[in-house]
Amino acid sequence: MNQIDLRSDTVTRPTAAMRAAMASAPVGDDVYGEDPTVNRLQEMVAGLLGMEEALFVASGTQSNLLAIMAHCGRGDEYIAGQAAHCYRFEGGGAAVLGSIQPQPLEFEADGTLDLEKVAAFIKPDDPHFARTRLLCLENTQSGKVLPLEYLARARAFSRNSGLALHLDGARLANAAVCLNQPMSEISRHFDSVSLCLSKGLGAPVGSVLAGSRELVATAQRWRKVLGGGMRQAGILAAAGIVALEEGIQRLEEDHANARRLANGLVELGLPADPETVQTNMVFVCLPQAESARLTQYLRQRNILVCGRDTLRLVTHRDVSAKDIDTVIAACGEFRRAGC
Ligand SMILES: *Cc1c(COP(=O)(O)O)cnc(C)c1O
Repeated sequence: MNQIDLRSDTVTRPTAAMRAAMASAPVGDDVYGEDPTVNRLQEMVAGLLGMEEALFVASGTQSNLLAIMAHCGRGDEYIAGQAAHCYRFEGGGAAVLGSIQPQPLEFEADGTLDLEKVAAFIKPDDPHFARTRLLCLENTQSGKVLPLEYLARARAFSRNSGLALHLDGARLANAAVCLNQPMSEISRHFDSVSLCLSKGLGAPVGSVLAGSRELVATAQRWRKVLGGGMRQAGILAAAGIVALEEGIQRLEEDHANARRLANGLVELGLPADPETVQTNMVFVCLPQAESARLTQYLRQRNILVCGRDTLRLVTHRDVSAKDIDTVIAACGEFRRAGC
């Protein structure tokens, strides 16, 4: 039976077009800067994001780490959301490998960081404190799209405060499609942007970090130090190019499927507010025991979801509208069975 995997948009498998592009990609040694396919991908992303340069890296985690290490040095500090990927889900890499301290703050309900609260956490120039150097935002943040007007304010704020501004844009393409804007309308407010090719865009591996020539040169140095200098990486970059060419506009289908799912769940009386579904994530907030029962019930029907009390259901290319109806039907049976 066909499995429906809603745990994450990272589970997509490469398309036939990606596999064909990988098989025929011209390659060279990228540590020498000689892989034409990597170079093409990097130029393509720099263009799409309106940045001087871009660097192909192994993962979004590596991309964020390189950005933090490029903006900050030993004894410096970055401000990020308490639930931000670059603080909470990256193994403490900035502290472990960069001697850079995080200052986490709660995200607001809309996925932004309150700039007045950020201001209150910027440390004075005094040997007691780490030097606050960088503010990191995330877009989308748990599927939420940061308002463009907020990004403009964050840009002005970071300039006035002498902070660099980094975007963890793992799902930047989802945000752009939701706003019906090019990605550059979002990225133009930032000094550096990390974009994942391996989430909803569907590539098997890889992220890209974009920024100024100087920032990317520093990031490239750290990438080598961290063991991320890859050789004929064009094999991977080729799939990333296809992901960007074919994967962006179709995210609209994932967003429509997420709305369809949220509407269906709400009709069953499950708490999944369709008003809050902007991109490809639906959250269902249930008592933990009920979440566990629903997760188990769905798993027996070959439907995978993740989460503890709040279940997260993520739509992506390998989930069709018909699959969504199958999921809604299974949740309906669960409700009727009174599990
Ligand atoms: C997935 C993700 C990352 C990291 O990507 P990996 O490629 O899994 O390391 C970073 N930030 C956010 C918001 C993500 O969702």
